[in-house]
Amino acid sequence: MTLARIIVENLSTPAAAATETLRKTVALDGYLRLPVDPYAVAQHLGLKPQKLALEPNIDGLLVKDKQGEPFKAVTDMFASEHRQRFTIAHEIGHWVHKYQNIPDDKVLGRVESRDDTSSKGIDPEEIWANRFAAALLMPAAIVRRHWGEGRTREELAEMFGVSRRSMDVRIATLGLQ
Ligand SMILES: [Zn+2]
Repeated sequence: MTLARIIVENLSTPAAAATETLRKTVALDGYLRLPVDPYAVAQHLGLKPQKLALEPNIDGLLVKDKQGEPFKAVTDMFASEHRQRFTIAHEIGHWVHKYQNIPDDKVLGRVESRDDTSSKGIDPEEIWANRFAAALLMPAAIVRRHWGEGRTREELAEMFGVSRRSMDVRIATLGLQ
C-alpha cells in the first residue's frame, strides 16, 4: 500500500525523467547508492515487482489486471539478474511515460510486453523506455565521474550492476570512448 503517490513531473526526456525518478525514490536523502536497485524504485513508485516464468521470448511485462491493485512490473525469473534489472527499469520507464496517472480502479490487462523487437530500436515508445532504463541504472553524471577516474569497463559494469554490453552501450551513448 502506497500512502502518497509519487508523481514524476519532468518528462521532457527519458534521461530527465530517470534523474527525477531517482531523486524522488532511492536518493531521498540526496545520496544514491550503487548499484541502483530498480526493484526498490518500482516499490517507491507504487508498482509491484514480480518475478514469474514468462513465455519464450518475453523478458518483461507491465500489467494492470485488478481493480484497486497497483501495476505489476514483471520480469522473467529465468533471465540473468542483469537482464531482469534492465527489464524492470524499462517497464518502470513505460509506467513513468504513459501510465502513472491511470487511476487504481482501472483494469487494463497487459499493457506492455518486452520481447526481441523491443531492443531493436524501431518503436519510439520502446526507445524511450530503453533510454530511461539506461539512465536509471547508469546515471550520466556518475558514469562520467567514475570513467574520468580511470575505471575500466569491467569495473563500471560491476559497480552499476549491468552487463558489460549495457555498459559499453552507455559509454558510447555518453560519448566517452
Ligand atoms: Zn517495452
